[in-house]
Amino acid sequence: MEQLKKQLRERCPELELRVREPMWKYTTFRIGGPAALMALPRTTAEAKAAVKTSWELGIEPFFLGNGSNLLVADGGYPGFIIKLAGEFEEIRTAVLQDGTEALEAGGAALLSRLASRALEEGFTGLEFAGGIPGSVGGAVTMNAGAYGGEIAQKVGVVHTLDRTGTEKFFDASECGFGYRKSIFSGGDSLILGAIFQLDRDDSAAIKARMEELAARRKEKQPLEYPSAGSTFKRPVGHFAAALIEQCGLKGLSVGGAQVSEKHAGFVVNRGGATCTDVLELVRLVKERVFRETSVELEMEVKILR
Ligand SMILES: Cc1cc2nc3c(=O)[nH]c(=O)nc-3n(C[C@H](O)[C@H](O)[C@H](O)COP(=O)(O)OP(=O)(O)OC[C@H]3O[C@@H](n4cnc5c(N)ncnc54)[C@H](O)[C@@H]3O)c2cc1C
Repeated sequence: MEQLKKQLRERCPELELRVREPMWKYTTFRIGGPAALMALPRTTAEAKAAVKTSWELGIEPFFLGNGSNLLVADGGYPGFIIKLAGEFEEIRTAVLQDGTEALEAGGAALLSRLASRALEEGFTGLEFAGGIPGSVGGAVTMNAGAYGGEIAQKVGVVHTLDRTGTEKFFDASECGFGYRKSIFSGGDSLILGAIFQLDRDDSAAIKARMEELAARRKEKQPLEYPSAGSTFKRPVGHFAAALIEQCGLKGLSVGGAQVSEKHAGFVVNRGGATCTDVLELVRLVKERVFRETSVELEMEVKILR
């Protein structure tokens, strides 16, 4: 890590670097020890330097979005983290070659801001995304979705950097979107931004739909506690929350981690939860659900250690 830091300082002095940065600050779970080295590129040139230098030294970078689907180890992460900043937070309107209007967002732009901007511009199609606390990069990687909508339906083009720091553009059909996955899930490409193709609608109607979905979320989800959203993927033919509730596990706690009393699909941090607490709770839930229903739950939340 020392050599990477040194080379980055030489090659790209303007790139912001942070050493032993506490990761709990960067995750919605509010859990996690320090990352050995973090870079916060604000421009494409800085992002290229960070990606290229790291791979050249044989260090696989981890791309951090808004940390809303992430559980970081208590001892921290010994590797290199790249978190986009600056120009990658921007959202603007764009006109495509065929004359259609679209919204273009940087990889670090928050989905909530993207959905609000769509509303301001009178674009429909991103109402589902308003309450998902991820970034554009994380949402494209995960093909985030809710209430019948998902990123795959609205994304036109994804702008990325490969391991050599070369820019590549992918049409939606080339992104391999599936349930909570895409070709970017493997961690090879840094998503710099994406273009969203949207239809026009009446702003009042868009606003009403967004408010209705926000109210549904608030009623069902434990938004009052830190979490990483749904802990488990939806098992084929079942709902994780229903299985967990059926097994009587609502409210089960290990240390500060608890199976939410409001929504059994969420593990929440009731205060001072550690990664160890969460993983032990997850182990207990998986074991019990499998014993009682023969369904194997798989974690949706990514673990970084
Ligand atoms: C309260 C709550 C509600 C939620 N509701 C939903 C929901 O309704 N639907 C849903 O799908 N999810 C939901 N989530 C989960 C989460 O918000 C989504 O998975 C989101 O897409 C993650 O985005 P992120 O930017 O936070 O990614 P992170 O958690 O930072 O990372 C997730 C993955 O994306 C990768 N990644 C992030 N940014 C980039 C980038 N720029 N380039 C390449 N790879 C990148 C990471 O390496 C990692 O593999 C919820 C979470 C919470 C806390």
